[in-house]
Amino acid sequence: MRIETLAIHAARKPDPATGAISGTLHLASTFERAADGSYPHGHFYGRASNPGRQELEQAIATLEGGAQGVAFSSGTAATLAVFGLLRAGDHVIAPAECYHGTIKQLHELIAPRGVEVTLAETWTPAAVAAAWRSNTRLLWIETPSNPRLHLTDIAAAAEFAHTRKALLACDSTFAPPVIQRPLALGADFVMHSTTKYFGGHSDVTGGIVVAAQTGDALDGLRHQQLQGGAVPSPFDCWLLRRSMMTLPLRVEAQCDNAERVAAFLAAHPVVERVYYPGLASHPGHDVARRQMRRFGAMMSVQVHGGEAAALAVAARVKVFTRATSLGGVESLIEHRASMEGPGTKTPQNLLRLSIGIENADDLLEDLAQALG
Ligand SMILES: *Cc1c(COP(=O)(O)O)cnc(C)c1O
Repeated sequence: MRIETLAIHAARKPDPATGAISGTLHLASTFERAADGSYPHGHFYGRASNPGRQELEQAIATLEGGAQGVAFSSGTAATLAVFGLLRAGDHVIAPAECYHGTIKQLHELIAPRGVEVTLAETWTPAAVAAAWRSNTRLLWIETPSNPRLHLTDIAAAAEFAHTRKALLACDSTFAPPVIQRPLALGADFVMHSTTKYFGGHSDVTGGIVVAAQTGDALDGLRHQQLQGGAVPSPFDCWLLRRSMMTLPLRVEAQCDNAERVAAFLAAHPVVERVYYPGLASHPGHDVARRQMRRFGAMMSVQVHGGEAAALAVAARVKVFTRATSLGGVESLIEHRASMEGPGTKTPQNLLRLSIGIENADDLLEDLAQALG
């Protein structure tokens, strides 16, 4: 089956007990034990497993072509579980520029555990080679990355890590499986903030890691899900399964709109620079063409006139909404540096755009009036 069909039929099956088409939603935190002490339906406690959560994990694993998914209560909790596979004395390499929460987590939660952390330009093979140590166990990449859409060659990164007996994890939040499938390119784990494209409607917070194979690493993730306890609620799992049925449709429409918005911005005199992998001028364009089916719907622009000009543009939008986050049906714009806070490397004149599924003409007219 193709991904559009899989998204529908993997996400939701009629509830076996009732035939309900809207699928399984059991809020139970505990499950009945048989007289002989066994658990005839395989579930014993809500934190350990839930029927709807299992369906979600299997559905996303199917779309990603992986062995199993492990769902968490946020993308951040999913990331923490992957870093939690590391022990004191291990070394991890992660992007010098990526989702700011990942960098904070490495500095504030992982390094204090005795894990050695190096931030490097992971989108540049030479930088990864220079950062590599004999105790490097994990290479974490994010592609395309926040906020300047750096493109990392996933297949090359996987080969580099594997020949050195390390694991490759890819945060693919900006590129859901409709357009990019890191496991097929050799990654060991693909991570998503399901808050974004999988949720798609800005109304659920979640995360998932899909492992390419069963084995110790996957067991380690399951252990952290159970003993770390950052599990998604049954209703959040149900919402995500409902939303992912339209993931392929939404993302196609978002990519169509994004290509038009990027072309418009690239030609606008107030715009200094556009970061969008679909533009031939983007440094990662060739890598994007090789490993992405489409170029996604995230982009950033730097505008002439510095921070004040960027804030003024954001202040004038009427169709776009000023908010952080991404991947929803509504288009968002944000002044990224002030969201990331002190110490950010994001330029002060940068605006990040998440393109939704409105009519593209309305988006272009709104940006035209906002840019002035
Ligand atoms: C949002 C995001 C995260 C964190 O996910 P939460 O669901 O907010 O915890 C991680 N990586 C990327 C690329 C993101 O956009």
